[in-house]
Amino acid sequence: MSWFDRFAGLLGKRMIIAKSAKDLDKMRAVGELIAEVRESLRAMVKPGISTMDLNNAADKMIRDAGAIPTFIGYHGFPYAICASVNDEIVHGFSKTEPLVEGDIVSLDMAATYHGFVGDTAMTVPVGNITDELKQLIRVTEECLDFGIQACLVNNRVGDIGWAVQQHAEKFGYGIVRDYTGHGIGRAMHESPQIPNYGRPGTKDRIRAGYCFAIEPMLNLGTHETRTLSDKWTVVTLDGMPSAHAEHTLAVTADGPEILTLTKEQKRLMRERSTETVSGRLEKVAGKG
Ligand code: MG
Repeated sequence: MSWFDRFAGLLGKRMIIAKSAKDLDKMRAVGELIAEVRESLRAMVKPGISTMDLNNAADKMIRDAGAIPTFIGYHGFPYAICASVNDEIVHGFSKTEPLVEGDIVSLDMAATYHGFVGDTAMTVPVGNITDELKQLIRVTEECLDFGIQACLVNNRVGDIGWAVQQHAEKFGYGIVRDYTGHGIGRAMHESPQIPNYGRPGTKDRIRAGYCFAIEPMLNLGTHETRTLSDKWTVVTLDGMPSAHAEHTLAVTADGPEILTLTKEQKRLMRERSTETVSGRLEKVAGKG
């Protein structure tokens, strides 16, 4: 979320919008759609491909599915995806210059479909990368997971940030503070802002029907950022690499439901959940 959104937030867009059952079905549809795009892009990343190739592929896939790439024209942003390489944190421009072995690239994308938005991001290795970078990506994904698991009815928004922060700090990573996760629905950026740090038990209470985009951004070095002269690309102040991961989720009475999963990922999740003790007990009780 940019300074512009924060300003708009201050002007009064402060209400958190709970989604109806019908809205949630649309959030599920767009979530799955953009997840399929994300996984297709993941499979394409290799040395020699450019972020412009990835952008063009995403643009086509989103439109072929009958959706709109939400980022294009968002406050003037020119591309379907944000492609942020190495020390670029978020909002990177797509370029024709090929990615090279050892790079990491964060790909952030959103689609609008039947009036609702799904937003997701991942950081992908280009060929072989160092163990240091592998860990950065892995921990960023783990932080996303911790953040998601904190999205429980009656928890508070501060609990999400705390969940992300306590894990990231174990590794000494810089947690980006200038950009945050956010509510999502008919608009890509709705209330509340969801920082990747926080104090437990603070900020808005979380209720069923809320939809959030959780998106930790972790840096190998300092958390401090600067924006390039293109007015968009955000880089680390010290030039050290950065990773980013994001899912859109819905808060339900049964816990967080990740919306930006592919059909296949949902199938795997269901399989895995029946392997847990509670899953087995539910089966025995005839609920599974
Ligand atoms: Mg987002």
